[in-house]
Amino acid sequence: MATVESVNGPIDLEDLGLTLIHEHFRCTDEATRFQFPHLYDEQTEWDDALSDANAVKGHGVRTVVEPSAMFLHRDARFSKRVADESGLQVILATGVYTYDHLPQPLMNRSEDQLAEIFVHDIETGIQGTDIRAAFIKCAADEPGVTPNVEKVHRAAARTSQQTGRPIMAHSHPKSGTGLEQMRIFGEEGVDPATVQVAHTGDTDDLDYIERLLDTGCWIGMDRYGLDIFLPTEQRQTTVLALLEKGHADRMFLSQDWPTTLDWFPPEVEEQMKAGAAPNWSMTFLFEQVIPELRERGMSEHQLDQMMVENPKRWLA
Ligand SMILES: [Zn+2]
Repeated sequence: MATVESVNGPIDLEDLGLTLIHEHFRCTDEATRFQFPHLYDEQTEWDDALSDANAVKGHGVRTVVEPSAMFLHRDARFSKRVADESGLQVILATGVYTYDHLPQPLMNRSEDQLAEIFVHDIETGIQGTDIRAAFIKCAADEPGVTPNVEKVHRAAARTSQQTGRPIMAHSHPKSGTGLEQMRIFGEEGVDPATVQVAHTGDTDDLDYIERLLDTGCWIGMDRYGLDIFLPTEQRQTTVLALLEKGHADRMFLSQDWPTTLDWFPPEVEEQMKAGAAPNWSMTFLFEQVIPELRERGMSEHQLDQMMVENPKRWLA
C-alpha cells in the first residue's frame, strides 16, 4: 500500500481525503523571532492556528499540506500539535524559501551538500524529531532565478532524485519564473510529473499557463483570496477555462493562507488584509469559491480530481 509521511507518521494515500495543498498554520521569520521574541505572541498564534485547523476540518478537509520551509518558520512540533489537537492530517516539506538571500552556512555549501541536508529531513526526520518531510520546497519570485535560487533548485532536484519525493516550486508568473524553474529541473533530469509549480493561479495568462502545463508539471491555483496578485473573479475565469480545456487532472485549489504572518507590523497587516485581500482565509474556498465554480459548470468529478485525486498522485 502506497503511503505518504505526515506529522504522525506514514498514512495511506487512500486516506488523504479532501486535501488543501498549500496552507500555513504560521508564517514568521525564524531569525527575527529568535532575536526579538517580544514582537510575537505564542498563545495567540497557537489559538489562531487551532481555530483555522478546526474551521477547515468543519468543511470536511482531512489533510493540509503545509509547505513551510526555512525562512517561513517550519516547525514540526507546532504542526504536529495542530494535527494532534484538531485531528487533521498535516504534511510537511524540507527546503528553503528564499527569493535570493542564503545564509553563510548554506552559501558555503554545494548543491550536493544542500541536497544531503534535505535528504536528512526526508529519511531521518525534521528538527530532531522523527517527523519526516514528504516533499521539497523551493522558490523563485520577482528577482527571478538568481544564482542562489538556482542552487536551491538544483539541490531540490537532486534530493528528489535521491528520494523519489516530489517538489513544490513557489513561482512568480508575472516574471515567468515557472518556465525557468522547469528548465532547471529538466537539466537535472527530474521527472516533470513530480513538480508542482505553485502560485500559477496568480496569472490569467492562459498562454503562459498552457506552456507551463506542456512541460508536464502540476499547477497550483492556490492563492484564492489574495486579490492583490489577482482578483477572485479572474482566478475563477482562469480555472474554469482550464477545466474546459481538460486540465482538471493537473491543477490544485488552495489559498496559501498564513494564519499568522509577521511580514508587516500588526496594524499594517490588518490594513493589508482588509484592503488587498478582504476575503482571504483558510476557508474562503468552501464559503465562496467552490460553490461559485459549481454554479458556473465545474463538475463534482473535476472537484474531486483537484482536491482528492491530484494530491494523492502528486504526493505518490
Ligand atoms: Zn505558501
